[in-house]
Amino acid sequence: MNLKSSKPQIGVIGGGVVGLSTALYIQQTIPSVEITVIADKFLNETLSYGAGGLFRPEVNIGTSKEIAEDWATTSYNHYLKLCMSSDANASGMQLVSGYHMNSYSQESLNNGLLAKLLPDIRDFNDNVRNLFPKRFKYGVTYTTIITDPRYYLPYLTNKLIQNNVRFINRHIDNLFQIADNYDIVVNCSGLNSKKLVNDWKLTPVRGQTIKVKAPWIKHFYFADESYVIPGRDYVTLGGIKQYGNSDLNVNYLDRESIWQRCTQVVPSLQNAEIVMDWVGLRPQRQPIRIEAEIMTDSDHNHMKNNLKVIHNYGHGGHGITYSWGTAKHATHLVQQMLSTNMSPKL
Ligand SMILES: Cc1cc2nc3c(=O)[nH]c(=O)nc-3n(C[C@H](O)[C@H](O)[C@H](O)COP(=O)(O)OP(=O)(O)OC[C@H]3O[C@@H](n4cnc5c(N)ncnc54)[C@H](O)[C@@H]3O)c2cc1C
Repeated sequence: MNLKSSKPQIGVIGGGVVGLSTALYIQQTIPSVEITVIADKFLNETLSYGAGGLFRPEVNIGTSKEIAEDWATTSYNHYLKLCMSSDANASGMQLVSGYHMNSYSQESLNNGLLAKLLPDIRDFNDNVRNLFPKRFKYGVTYTTIITDPRYYLPYLTNKLIQNNVRFINRHIDNLFQIADNYDIVVNCSGLNSKKLVNDWKLTPVRGQTIKVKAPWIKHFYFADESYVIPGRDYVTLGGIKQYGNSDLNVNYLDRESIWQRCTQVVPSLQNAEIVMDWVGLRPQRQPIRIEAEIMTDSDHNHMKNNLKVIHNYGHGGHGITYSWGTAKHATHLVQQMLSTNMSPKL
């Protein structure tokens, strides 16, 4: 317990979309606690800031399909509400329709979660199929939500500041470094949980994108592994997924490959102004880890030997999509820990 306050102290590690969403969910649900967000990177330094932000849930990402569906539904409803609210502009939300196609199977496009959540998913008819290169035999169109992280992260940050959540810029090597200051630590450190809590199930999946100015692009396009996602200021062109590669340098062969593939699908991109290249490492873990743990300090160097931790990390290529739903789940575990004052049911 913090000596200055009788309120339970919650320390959230992580200033990416998962940490900020979790801090806000806790703040909105459990007003009796004080929250501090601790991170060594914020806003444009985080992975989350560079993501395309397309809402596209993957079924096999949680411990069960039901859990993944619950996360996706919670997130989608939250984003949709924001899209329709007076905060739509500030939060970077927009409803966007587009084309999702591949060269190998219709079945893989009929993601059950998309079909349940989105009102208008439809198979390509011949007219639409003829708009694209012939190898894309299968396709669906739908309307989904694009969350532009360049707006959404500042929006979440401002909300937290308005609600008296504190921010600390600090690198943490070991969770016990902050154990004495917090009753519960919520670990949203993304890929860095590999080091921070020795989680070897986490794998970097390298992505590279080109951000261009092409304000005439109003739809999203997914074609096999390539994609074109319109954000507020830039359109993101991508399609690099390299398992186990943690190289943060721009690779010029990857860049050429993205450019060739994306301009084949959307030829008008040839006229786009290139603004920047961007590389990010997806924190891939199967399943995403949302779990309570009582950690023990093996070195016995700290006042507290046991630390209550809620983990929320490993969102892979779906962190924007799932952030609000997983924030709700993590908040529930925090509530359980607070109310039982002991380990929640794991
Ligand atoms: C090319 C690309 C495109 C993508 N497009 C999409 C998309 O369209 N839709 C989608 O849903 N997802 C997308 N993603 C995935 C998405 O970016 C991630 O899933 C998401 O950003 C993960 O968020 P996070 O908060 O867990 O991690 P991060 O954004 O990496 O945040 C981690 C935070 O933890 C802090 N931290 C870590 N370790 C420590 C430490 N030891 N001490 C202090 N602080 C620490 C960091 O400073 C940072 O603030 C994409 C990813 C890539 C690479």
